[in-house]
Amino acid sequence: MVKKAYKFRLYPTKEQADLINKTIGCSRFVANFALAEQKKEEDIWATTNELVQQGFLPENNYKVKFFDKVQSIKDIAQLKKHYTWLKEVDSIALQASVENVADAYSRYYKKQNDKPKFKSKKNPVQSYTTKLVNGNIKIIDRYIQLPKLGMVRFANSQEVNGNIKRVTVRRNPSGKYFVSILAETKVTPFSKTGSSIGIDVGLAKFATLSNGVQYDNPKFFQKLEKKLANAQRILSRRKIGSSNWNKQRIKIARIHEKIVNSRTDYLQKISTDIVKNHDIIGMEDLKVSKMQQNKELAKGISEISWYQFRTMISYKCEWYGKKLVLVNPSHTSQRCNCCGHTEKSNRISQSKFVCKSCGHTENADINASKNILELALSI
Ligand SMILES: [Zn+2]
Repeated sequence: MVKKAYKFRLYPTKEQADLINKTIGCSRFVANFALAEQKKEEDIWATTNELVQQGFLPENNYKVKFFDKVQSIKDIAQLKKHYTWLKEVDSIALQASVENVADAYSRYYKKQNDKPKFKSKKNPVQSYTTKLVNGNIKIIDRYIQLPKLGMVRFANSQEVNGNIKRVTVRRNPSGKYFVSILAETKVTPFSKTGSSIGIDVGLAKFATLSNGVQYDNPKFFQKLEKKLANAQRILSRRKIGSSNWNKQRIKIARIHEKIVNSRTDYLQKISTDIVKNHDIIGMEDLKVSKMQQNKELAKGISEISWYQFRTMISYKCEWYGKKLVLVNPSHTSQRCNCCGHTEKSNRISQSKFVCKSCGHTENADINASKNILELALSI
């Protein structure tokens, strides 16, 4: 059983959009209430501490209670009596919102994340999550049935396989709505092909396989990236907060979305191809933290793509019974795949490799991907 996430554009009617916005607000409200209750506990402890320091109390004996999930969920019913507008929205979403705070606290207690923070309505992306209870969520043709909202039209571009577990409704900064569906499904492994492959990622070609197959950086992206850079220049000349600035900001968000969506589609396609056709896949273990420091726009975008690509290959290998081996990236582009001689000047240009020792001449990316394969097979 694996969990798969699907994301679609949602097209709510005006009334549905209003209710979505209201549900987002109410989910935030109950989450912040639960957080505030917990914060009171911490405040009592802090105040007691001050009294100890000022000499009014001998010691701080106050025990801060842990976040109480059950009580917090019960609190929602009380809140509904005071704030009746909470009754207008999906009650499962409200409960899920509080459960989410409880999960964040339990991770915090295990030192896995920072202390949960209050949710702000200023966050660029606003969302709420609801869960499947008694068949309340269904996909029928081009519509998804959601609690309280009823049938909402969506761009059903891909079949959702398996049982729906959870649905998140998002509103992004450009004012578009999206739905993410998490479904649990059984996958059948791809049949074994007996083939192994090394993959080198680069700027000239997006990916090069050790069998000589190369995947381009589609021209399409470069056009969009240029458009994005242009639009950002225009934005920088506009007065912050003005209506023209706002229009431009939405325009940029749309270009950004288009880049992200087409990149994801492209990477999905080639990663599935590779996992289907090969049993053992070698890739370089490139560190993300280093990648994100890259200031250059084009290179930055490529590096995000490489990382996303590797993530896809990694989970698809797990789904379909294949193996990904990550190798140490040092020297893979400087080592001759024929004789093993390693020297920086072996790579005489971006694309050409000529070994100083044996004279072996090859496309530099193909030579590197062969080294990656060799390393992967040696592990
Ligand atoms: Zn050589």
